Formats: sequence, structure tokens, C-alpha cells
Amino acid sequence: MSVHGQAVAGSGGIVCGAIQKLDSQDQIIPEYGISKAQHTAEKKRFVDAITQASRHIQKEMDALREHPQAKVLLPILETHLMMLSDPELRESTQRYIEEKSINVEWALKRCMADFVQAFADMDDVYLKSRKADIEQVGKRILHELTDKTNIKGSVPAIIVAQDFSPSDIVSLWRMGAIGFVAAQGGKEGHALIVARGLGLTGLIGAQGLFAQASDGDELILDAEHLCWTLRPSQQERDDFKKKQAQLAAEQDALKAFAHTPSRSKDGYALPLLANIEFIEEIDIALEYGVDGIGLFRTEFLFMQSDTLPSEDEQTAYYQAIVQRVGNLPVTFRLLDVGADKLAYAQLLFDDYDGENPALGLRGVRMLLHKPKLLRTQLRAILRSSPSEQVSILVPMVTSVSEMQAVRTVVEEIQAELKINHAVSLGCMIEVPSAALIAHDLANVSDFFSIGSNDLVQYTLAVDRADEHVSYLYDANHPAVRQLIQMAVDAAQARHIPITICGELAADTTWTQTFLDMRISALSMTSRNILHVRKRLQELQAKTSIIS
Ligand code: PEP
Ligand code: MG
Repeated sequence: MSVHGQAVAGSGGIVCGAIQKLDSQDQIIPEYGISKAQHTAEKKRFVDAITQASRHIQKEMDALREHPQAKVLLPILETHLMMLSDPELRESTQRYIEEKSINVEWALKRCMADFVQAFADMDDVYLKSRKADIEQVGKRILHELTDKTNIKGSVPAIIVAQDFSPSDIVSLWRMGAIGFVAAQGGKEGHALIVARGLGLTGLIGAQGLFAQASDGDELILDAEHLCWTLRPSQQERDDFKKKQAQLAAEQDALKAFAHTPSRSKDGYALPLLANIEFIEEIDIALEYGVDGIGLFRTEFLFMQSDTLPSEDEQTAYYQAIVQRVGNLPVTFRLLDVGADKLAYAQLLFDDYDGENPALGLRGVRMLLHKPKLLRTQLRAILRSSPSEQVSILVPMVTSVSEMQAVRTVVEEIQAELKINHAVSLGCMIEVPSAALIAHDLANVSDFFSIGSNDLVQYTLAVDRADEHVSYLYDANHPAVRQLIQMAVDAAQARHIPITICGELAADTTWTQTFLDMRISALSMTSRNILHVRKRLQELQAKTSIIS
């Protein structure tokens, strides 16, 4: 009998595949005793699994080398290779097999627990931070030990877990998973945003599935309708195929809107820009004929390594982006770590232990707290383009002084680098206080960008990544609408552009409102661009407002 369930949010698409539960504390690792006669065979399984895991890492490294900009990931994989070949890992796992007469998975689990503890007990902060690496290496070996948990198997895999971090999503995508389902997570968490950018189908806040599913079970994952079907009947499989074909046809039809003007029926221009997290997404954005990059979330460059990228590394990365987009404008947002990217913030800034990360040292607060970090990033961005093509966006602004402090550093760097052109510095409006003082912020900003994801979260006191309060997460709430209007009024009074760069920008039920408000541009996950452009071309801008 099939089992059905719902989810809170999704990253579009409909797929069908075999479930793999992601190894975590919740996964049951097979634990059984073995006879003495089986010791040798069990130890050989371990050696084979290490060889296989090393091969897979080598392959991933080869693939990454073809993307010069992704080379920041290589050191992590090199470390994993080194750990795999550590004789201590092999010897202690094999010792458990021999001394306790237990299967290799169990022996590995015990060995990993010893290693993880040893790393956690270390005083050296750097070595302590390698704990995550050794855990990942253990997971890789476990993947190899059980064919059905090997994501590289021939059956398309849908990964099911309690929760995913943004970097987990990137790993799943790189490893070829066709979808993912998380029990936890709210409407606008960053894992979901990353999945949308990469075009990986998934569901968030899908309770019930993890407990009822086993590895290898067939699952229909319908992120268009936010639902799933476990162990589908033949009839449900047939329906899935029809829905998938229909969706493909709709997406094909949308292609006609690529490279057509981002204008309303009556000719009002509303540029449609892309939100980008990874350089790999740019090609897709260009295929859709985006009018620029409205939000480049630079934190994902930082999150790919557990050391800070140097000024030269950052410059090379930003330059690569600027080159790849040709003449289109690019807005780089300064590093915004914190909240659901907290684990990363703690790794880099071990002196920070805020209890409530969403209200803590994130965005511009963190940057002003770490002036070298701010200066390095600003220098790298300003070195990436000799023209006015590049703009800079400041996240989590709540006061005029924060914008002024960043501006001062920008001006110093302009002088250092002998940059004569104007540098456009924008302020994100994503906290109610920013909207409430928008008139003052407009005096110290060259443009505004409304981050509706956080604006809704902070206005309504609803954690954007918590499925339990997702029903309250509503951009249509009158309080949110009023704050948006306040920011728009302030920008227009001061004649500075105002864009929307939260997920709301892609909500076609808002396109008419944005037209009526004379929003300067909408920036969204590029996969939504064609959909919004189609809608835009059907609408009339209200002449009373335009004239
Ligand atoms: C937002 O808050 O709307 C936004 C665009 O930033 P992020 O989603 O990265 O927090
Ligand atoms: Mg935000």
C-alpha cells in the first residue's frame, strides 16, 4: 500500500527514484556479530571500501578541476583522501573486527566515534574543526560498504534526511542525486534557496516520511504540489509519468520567453535579474536571458572551504563571474553568515558564540566586527571590474551608521586602488527597522534591495527555516506590505533604484503589485525568470502611476 504525505515548501520539479536515507544519528547502521572465520573477509570489505571511496574522491576532484573556479573545494577533498589513507583508521577498525568479532560497519562506527571524540578533545581550534572532515570520511566509507547507500548507483537516488545544510545540498547535487526530502525546514531556509538555484528537486518540512521509509523504497517526489508518495501503486506511477511529461512540456513552452524583453504588455520595463550562489548557476541564468545578476550571495564562496579565501582568491572568483556575464550588471552582496549558516560562522570565528544567531552577529554586524574581513572582501570586489558594472550590497543593515561605516572603507579602498568611477553601494532592507528609517538610509545609499525572506521573518517573528511556524510566514501580511511600501516611498522620494531580491520577487501573484509600485528590478532564482517574464508580458503597468 502506498503512503502519502505533504511538505511545507519545495524546490520545483517532479521525480521518482529510490530512497537513500542519509547517514546520520537516525540511520540504523547494521550491527551484528560475526564468526572468527569471517574476520578476514570482513577486513577485506573494509579495505575495498576505502579503495572505492578514494576512487570516488579522485573522480570528484577530476570533475572539479574542469571548473577552475571550483578549485577552492579541492583542498577539502585532498584532506579527505589523506584521512582515508591513514593507517590508524584502518588498523583500529580492523582491531575492532578482530577483538569484538563484529561486522565492519559496526566496527567502523565505533572507530569513528573514537576519532570524533579525540578531535573534539583537542585544544587546537584548527584541529578541532577537522572533526567534521573525519565524520564525512566515515560516511563515505559507509556509503561504499552498502551498495544501496551508494549514491553513485545506477538507480536515481532521492536522499531523505532529517535536515540538510546548504553545503549538503551542493554535495547531493554534485554526487548526482535526483532529489531530496528533509523532515525539517521552513519556507525560505538557505538549503532550499540553494536547491532552487541548482535546479535540484526537493521537499522541506516533510514529516512522517523518514520514519516510514527504508533504503531502496520507491518514492514519487512532487515538489510542484508539495507532496510525496511512498511505494506508489502502478496507477500512481502512471499518473506521475503524465504529470512529469506535462511539466516538461510547460517548461519547454516557457523557453520561448528567453531573450524576450522584460516588459509589461504596455511597454513598462521591469528588468529581471538572477540571484546566484554558485558560479555554475550563471550559465543557466544566461540561457534564460537574465538582465543581470541582482544578488550574488558571496557567503557560498566562503562556505566551500574552512579557511578564509585570500584577497587574491576572492578577486579571481569575482573576476570570473564578471567575465562570464559579459556586459551585464552584477551586484555582489557582502558576506552574510549567521542564522542558518551559523555552523560556518562558528568555524571561522571561534570567538563568537551568540545564543540567538538570527538576532546575533550576522551580516554587516559581523563585517564591522571583523574589519579585515570587510576590507579584504571590498578590495577583492573592487579589483574584479574596472568599470561601474559591479555594485555592492550590504546585508542586515539596521542603522545609518552601519552604511556610513562601510562607505568609509569603500572610499579608502577607492583611493588605495586609484578607482575614479563611482562605486554603487546598496542597502538591503530586510529588517523592519531599516524600512522604518528608509528615508534616512536613502540619504546614504545608492540603491535599496528588499530582502523579503528576512523581512518577513523579522517582521512577523517567524523563523524562516522552521516548519512548525511556516503557516505564519506570509509576505501578504499587512505589516510586511506596509514596510515594503515605506521602503519604496523613501527610495522614490530620493530617486534611488529599489529592487526586490527575496523569493517574493518570483511570486507571480505579486508581479502586478511590483509594477504598480514602480519597483526598479526583480531579482530571483534564475529558474523562475521565464515564468515571471511571461506573467509580466501579460500585465499592464498602471498608467496613472507611470505618467
Ligand atoms: C532575503 O533575506 O530576502 C535575502 C535575499 O537574503 P538571504 O535570503 O540570503 O537571507
Ligand atoms: Mg537576508
